[in-house]
Amino acid sequence: MPQHTLTLLGSTGSIGLSTLDVIARHPDKFRVFALAGHTQTAKLAEQCAAFRPRYAVVADAARADDLRARLAAAGCDTEVLHGAQALVDVASAPEVDGVMAAIVGAAGLPPTLAAARAGKTIYLANKETLVVSGSLFMQAAAQSGARILPVDSEHNAIYQVLPEHKGYLKDGGIESIVLTASGGPFLHTDLAALPAITPAQAVKHPNWSMGQKISVDSATMMNKGLELIEAHWLFACPPERLEVVIHPQSVIHSMVRYADGSVLAQMGTPDMRTPIAYCLGLPERIESGAAPLDFAALSSLTFARPDFQRFPCLKLAYEAMHSGGSAPCVLNAANEVAVAAFLAGRIRFTDIAAVVAACLERHHSGQPDGIDALLALDADIRAQAEAEVRRRAT
Ligand code: NAD
Ligand code: MG
Repeated sequence: MPQHTLTLLGSTGSIGLSTLDVIARHPDKFRVFALAGHTQTAKLAEQCAAFRPRYAVVADAARADDLRARLAAAGCDTEVLHGAQALVDVASAPEVDGVMAAIVGAAGLPPTLAAARAGKTIYLANKETLVVSGSLFMQAAAQSGARILPVDSEHNAIYQVLPEHKGYLKDGGIESIVLTASGGPFLHTDLAALPAITPAQAVKHPNWSMGQKISVDSATMMNKGLELIEAHWLFACPPERLEVVIHPQSVIHSMVRYADGSVLAQMGTPDMRTPIAYCLGLPERIESGAAPLDFAALSSLTFARPDFQRFPCLKLAYEAMHSGGSAPCVLNAANEVAVAAFLAGRIRFTDIAAVVAACLERHHSGQPDGIDALLALDADIRAQAEAEVRRRAT
């Protein structure tokens, strides 16, 4: 394959680190144009020294000064930029072929959308972009010819087993898309014990090592809810053809059912380097560093239906997906605020769903007209969710 020039948005996070690990295995195939972190300047300085990008982006001027000092000490000539516009610039620069979208939350939306408008290949980890602005984002990509390759393990699995990489095709004989979910750390916890769950318990995922926000989302199963909406947009799949099945071993990463009764699944050890390497290498299969799946060591693969009483966030996400319009944007913004408040010890684990439900109840779903309207709604809902958090604060 010809050498790809890449921008990594969120290079200091869990997906960012896994991406750099894959890239480091193939120095002939990839060149790094820009690395964007946010606040972790020490980690970003190390990454710059190792990968020598042209640009590095951080949150603000003070952190930019800090990173410049670190880079000067290391003899690294990477140019340091800061702020939201710099993220947009490095995601859409003409030199760039592909953009790893791995910022967490709706903060990733503007640069990811800029990459879509600029016709880049987008390796999409930042599911919140599709939840908040699925219709606009898919339209922007279709107009520019941007290619969207799903990094999220479930969507990557589905992408791998769809008949054509052209999205959801009714005439392709597809019955439904089945997203698998581990069920997280509280699949069997006594319901009465859930209010007292601590942040440390919630971020301890049984199978995957991930950032804090998505780990909490996995514990509430809001993550699967966000992924339903992500799949709806990515594969143009109607909500009634999306299923969720609990599969605690996280070996089958998702499946597609066909009209003839066949079900195609993609399997592997739970390691994000596999979907990342799949996206980066396409159309080739390249080495990722993930351990091979050891069938003899697998005692069993089990499946179960999700329980909405245990996982009210999943139900809220289903409802938001069915309502459509701006409801998923409300769901996402309220959830981001509630999860941050839970992680900060301000509300209980079970208050996360209560905060999201309160925001959704008050909202009358409309069709926001463009990205500015969505971002304004996002800000408005964050303020409402913060008020809900304050009412519940312990
Ligand atoms: P993380 O918290 O480990 O990393 C987040 C990254 O985003 C960091 O580099 C951070 O510096 C950057 N960031 C945070 N806030 C920012 C802001 N306001 N502006 C700019 N940059 C900011 O998160 P993660 O687990 O790597 O997840 C990243 C995204 O990938 C999320 O959308 C998540 O849902 C998705 N995802 C992650 C995994 C996983 O295994 N970690 C799997 C599937 C999808
Ligand atoms: Mg996932």
